[in-house]
Amino acid sequence: MKDMRSEALHHVIDRLDIGIIVLDRELRVLFWNRFMAANSAKTVTDVLGRRLPELFPELPERWLRKKVETVFVLKNQAFTSWEQRPYLFRFRHNRPITGGADYMFQNCTFIPCRDHAGEVESVAVTVQDVTDLAIAQRALADARDALEQSSRLDGLTGIFNRRHWEHCLALEFKRSRRNGSVLALIMFDLDHFKSINDRYGHLAGDEVLRAVGRRLAQVVRETDIVGRYGGEEFGVILPECDCDGAAVLAERIRIAMQELEIVCDGLRIPVTVSLGVAQSEATAESHEALIGHADQALYCSKRSGRNTFRIHRND
Ligand code: GH3
Ligand code: MG
Ligand code: MG
Repeated sequence: MKDMRSEALHHVIDRLDIGIIVLDRELRVLFWNRFMAANSAKTVTDVLGRRLPELFPELPERWLRKKVETVFVLKNQAFTSWEQRPYLFRFRHNRPITGGADYMFQNCTFIPCRDHAGEVESVAVTVQDVTDLAIAQRALADARDALEQSSRLDGLTGIFNRRHWEHCLALEFKRSRRNGSVLALIMFDLDHFKSINDRYGHLAGDEVLRAVGRRLAQVVRETDIVGRYGGEEFGVILPECDCDGAAVLAERIRIAMQELEIVCDGLRIPVTVSLGVAQSEATAESHEALIGHADQALYCSKRSGRNTFRIHRND
């Protein structure tokens, strides 16, 4: 009767859609079910009595030895999920849509098997195929990242939108306060943009804004942070830079925009910008105040005839 029951149990275990291996303390295989045989192309006779790391040289042997030893010593079950370690055995999977997943993702459990005296005599390892779950979760995480990224960008120009750009400025402002370092800001506004819209149409105006955003991203340094602050107003944050350094960039931006080649109906649209430069002083009260200073300098440029830059002086 006892034998019949264990035979039936053996039969069930063999047909489970989950891998089951039993190992001794030296990682020798004592049991190997059909799932393991089918996925590894190694039969019970191939593996019985042999050490697992010899059979699968790609296995993380030190990690596995430690895991099994812990179960022997602590007599507790242990678990490892695909998020910590994507797989234990490098098995192929049969999904047509993989989302870049080449191997079967696995959750593994290490279960202590006790003898009559309650001592652990072997460890049963279960290998569960969680590829579908892993692919779905990865796709979800990718979609979340893409959404987060797009929520930071301005839909027209593809550079940072005002909300995210101002968030960056607030962070850089705090950092400069903490480190006692300087921080410069350039704000600029397109000259007579209303007449560009009136003369060439709103769509051509949009194209001008796109071209300005593209060119701006090219002329700044990698550490500078560019954003579209308003309709046709842009901002550049220059971490660890003073007014003199910012003035050099302001002039470079002025020339780059003046040289933009944007053609509408065979006519070149002339574009110029007026810029304002400000520097964060140790006494500057907020990042908003810094924007205000750069804006004041910008309007000085406008009053001085446009297509130029001015530096805000705190005195
Ligand atoms: P100024 O030299 O004094 O700056 O003159 P301006 O004509 O540029 O004046 P202002 O800055 O006040 O005008 C902004 C214009 O920009 C008004 C608005 O119609 C236009 N504008 C704002 N956002 C957009 C946009 O997304 N696309 C287009 N095509 N035009 C925009
Ligand atoms: Mg303008
Ligand atoms: Mg404006």
